[in-house]
Amino acid sequence: MLSAIVGINWGDEGKGRMVDLLGSRYDIVVRYQGGNNAGHTVVNERGKFVLNLLPSGILREDTVNVMGNGMVIDLEHLCGEIARLREQGIVITPENLKVSEKATVCLPYHKAQDILEEDRLADKKFGSTRRGIGPCYADKYIKKGLRISDLFCHDTLKEKVADIVEWKNLTIEGGYHSAPVEAEAMLDWLNTYSKEIEPFVCDTGAYLHKADAEGKKILLEAQLGALRDIDFGIYPYTSSSQTIAAYGPIGAGVPGLQLDESIGIMKAYSTCVGEGPFTAEMFGPEADALREVGGEYGAATGRPRRVGGFDVPASLYGVKLQGASCLALTKLDVLSYLKEIPVCVAYDVDGVETTEFPTGDRLVRAKPVYRNLPGFCTDISGCRKKSELPKEALDYIAWLEKAVGCEIRYVSVGAEREAYIDMHAE
Ligand code: GDP
Ligand code: MG
Repeated sequence: MLSAIVGINWGDEGKGRMVDLLGSRYDIVVRYQGGNNAGHTVVNERGKFVLNLLPSGILREDTVNVMGNGMVIDLEHLCGEIARLREQGIVITPENLKVSEKATVCLPYHKAQDILEEDRLADKKFGSTRRGIGPCYADKYIKKGLRISDLFCHDTLKEKVADIVEWKNLTIEGGYHSAPVEAEAMLDWLNTYSKEIEPFVCDTGAYLHKADAEGKKILLEAQLGALRDIDFGIYPYTSSSQTIAAYGPIGAGVPGLQLDESIGIMKAYSTCVGEGPFTAEMFGPEADALREVGGEYGAATGRPRRVGGFDVPASLYGVKLQGASCLALTKLDVLSYLKEIPVCVAYDVDGVETTEFPTGDRLVRAKPVYRNLPGFCTDISGCRKKSELPKEALDYIAWLEKAVGCEIRYVSVGAEREAYIDMHAE
């Protein structure tokens, strides 16, 4: 059985939190795209954890975790993250962590290039996390990337590194007039960290195929949300990878397998990190209040997130893109301070109201059409059953289900693992 947990919005919906919760039903959790620009915060009985590269299943003792071929992996960051989690008492061994030999290595010069470009753009910057993810994916697709398996081909690695460093310096030194990348230093870096990760490296596609054949349950964990997908999101303010569920089996290493289920994680309001069109955005004291109550600061970067009301056109589009079979609504508890809940019910594009999500300039010109729904004005963070939720909260959930055309199966009312309601349970 193959399921995916994916983001319906712009990311930071609480995917890590839901993988941590639902992970008990799966044998294996796989990250299939992205790199350490991800920030998944998980709070459970073992503590509070921030995961950038490791799948959120790493916090469960019996779960095997796979970093798929679709990922870009900064080796130094991975080693640091493993060490940090071990200090927090998490056991990480080749038994419970497997790294794809086909994944792409995110190198120090990718990070340098990312920073040089963001600085060059100055006030036109994209809001990159400056972790090299964009340049690394670009190199992958023009076939100038280094893959994990290359690190263990000792006869050819030195020459390969010399060639790509020469090529990269055309950009770093020639284009940006920055200090050239040194091949020797890069080899040292690669040797140091590849030794550390070598025990985890394997053919993860073969591993997953075998596991599937044995009837194991596999969960794919996305980074970011539908609106950051490189093809379908708010290009160019997207990530550089495919965040959608349909790409999951490819990035995981099992392109021939079909997804049985796509669980969409949808936030009770909107947040967006970085630049780009964000139609439902709120400003001033209204926005500050929502940001503070929701604790909306990036897990990977600490940056304040832009906030707004729930966005119907964007979420409707996200649900479609993700082929969501059901939804988990997160952070509903955050809205308890509001007498009335503002919701962006449609966009006004050139004087015409629409719930379709526009592209390009039409999206930039779109203005939000806001409507207020009754607030529930009660602390719901202790609710564990549907029957404990106030009527207005249930009405809000039912309204959202109707607006996006998909069932809300789970409602999260807090960051802790057990702070949720299964809407099917009594
Ligand atoms: P991800 O990137 O999708 O995994 O989400 P993040 O971890 O970046 O952001 C979600 C944040 O909200 C984290 O700090 C979570 O601990 C927290 N969180 C998740 N679900 C809930 C919830 O239902 N209520 C509250 N108050 N916080 C939540
Ligand atoms: Mg996040």
